[in-house]
Amino acid sequence: MPDGIDFADDTDQPRTHMTLRLIAQDPTVLGEDERILTALVRVPWSRMEVGPRGARLHVVDYDTATGRYYRHAAITDDDPFADVPDTTLKKDRAFHAQQVYGTAARTLAAFETALGRRLPWGFANHQLALVPHAFAEANAYYSREDGALLFGYVPADADREAVYTCLSHDVVVHETAHAVLDGLRRRYLEPALPDQAAFHEGFADIVALLSVFSMRPVIERALGPADKNGRIKRASVEPAALRRSVLAKVAEEIGGVLTQGRGALRESARKPPPTGWDEMPEFDEPHRRGEVLVALAFELLVEIWWKRLQPLLSRPKAADGDGRGITVDRARAAEEGARAASQLLTMLIRGLDYLPPVEFDYGDLLNAVVLADAEVVPDDDLGYRDLLIGRFEAAGIKRPQNRVTDVLTAQRPPHYLGINFAGLRSDRDEVFRFLWLNAPRLEICTDYYTVIESVLPTQRIGPDGLIVPESVATYLQMVNMTAREFTDASGLELSPQIDPGTSVQLFGGGTLVFDQFGRLKLHIFKRLTDWKRQQRRLEYLAKTGRRDSLQRLGFSEGTARGQAFARLHNSDLSSGEAW
Ligand SMILES: [Zn+2]
Repeated sequence: MPDGIDFADDTDQPRTHMTLRLIAQDPTVLGEDERILTALVRVPWSRMEVGPRGARLHVVDYDTATGRYYRHAAITDDDPFADVPDTTLKKDRAFHAQQVYGTAARTLAAFETALGRRLPWGFANHQLALVPHAFAEANAYYSREDGALLFGYVPADADREAVYTCLSHDVVVHETAHAVLDGLRRRYLEPALPDQAAFHEGFADIVALLSVFSMRPVIERALGPADKNGRIKRASVEPAALRRSVLAKVAEEIGGVLTQGRGALRESARKPPPTGWDEMPEFDEPHRRGEVLVALAFELLVEIWWKRLQPLLSRPKAADGDGRGITVDRARAAEEGARAASQLLTMLIRGLDYLPPVEFDYGDLLNAVVLADAEVVPDDDLGYRDLLIGRFEAAGIKRPQNRVTDVLTAQRPPHYLGINFAGLRSDRDEVFRFLWLNAPRLEICTDYYTVIESVLPTQRIGPDGLIVPESVATYLQMVNMTAREFTDASGLELSPQIDPGTSVQLFGGGTLVFDQFGRLKLHIFKRLTDWKRQQRRLEYLAKTGRRDSLQRLGFSEGTARGQAFARLHNSDLSSGEAW
């Protein structure tokens, strides 16, 4: 073995998983034994080195506040923190490293399992750096430039103990979700209509919320005390009770670690948005707007959970006349909650591949989730898709018209002359060739700069084991012009606050889904020439002051991308949210 290199884990028999102890929600959440609630969870196995470092994630324990760098032992799964006292657990940097590593690894795994492939990060490195003690401040953010999640902490003082954002399950999941989303849809950090930034925040919160449910002890605790047989009353699992007690409790605790922040889920994130929210100025702020999605996820979770509980409730011998005597095993009820959360999360993540690469709006999400779900679960016997559509429509979000072509039933199917089918699964140039050949049929205007940005093969596995292999390619279109040229091209006026000489940048693009034979089956698009949308975007960017340093509108902002998140998480607009 070469000097100075510690091959900590060089086993000849790689395994699929390792089991780690993690703080289930955050250190303020205690179990029935009055100790910090922890859970043993499975994370995908990787060969581990000191740091700890694995194939996709590196813990870099560099503390900019003190200038010190700590290297911790490689993670092992013999549960070294099993009997460590709470006071040590809170302070032990090696445990902090395990907490961020384990939590980020589970989050990445949830996305990779649902999408059936490895997911790239939004930067060139293969490994995302996790910095558990990045700065002395109660904040945390994803930085694309650094290829890192940076977690802050508030050092202890005379009055209180230190607060570590890296110990909060929800904060780590939320930031990991930002990193994964950025890898899937890099353009979602471009200046756009408000749904796009709101989606990043709302989706990250949803992933955090639904992941808490996979921590069984948290849910059992939230369901309330059980009788000596481990059973609870039917009344405690009815939808109203689930909303009021379990979800409210979990949500209040989410983000509780951040003293100056609102936490992820304010009460407003648990109620359906008011009618006409879309037009209200307060909903221009990304977090507030993101709460609309979070509230929808809450409702869907309750409904799916309730459906799943039915077989446990209808036991005739336990029932009296009005059903009040019915009880349910608390552990089973929690397990159904975990399954409901996992189903919903998988369903939402699967939709991500079917989103357009630019100019996202909420209708696109509904559309994408429904399309992707129909591929994997053709007969929706549990009615989840109707549930989803119903909930979104009740919140004023409709499936958009004319943004998807079902190519297999199109009147004029695409040409494949000279196209290498295998290339459509991996080769950007081959996909471009296909796009060029079929531009008239797909109604893609080739007057604008057009580039294939990604081509990814996927394998999805449905609940009945059905494997759906596909390949998903995205293309981007872009043009720079002046406001005057925009008015000329579109025939639409812009408000006086946009000077006619202002430079503007417009985006369009689409997602091409090919089946296992290389045939195009879906084309999901945002036309560059949808001038009404472009007008709305320019007006929104002008109104909210989102100009770059040259006073241009719609251009990628000059600040570093990671800084965009730091700013978003600290912005004046964000009513003091800290992550
Ligand atoms: Zn965020």
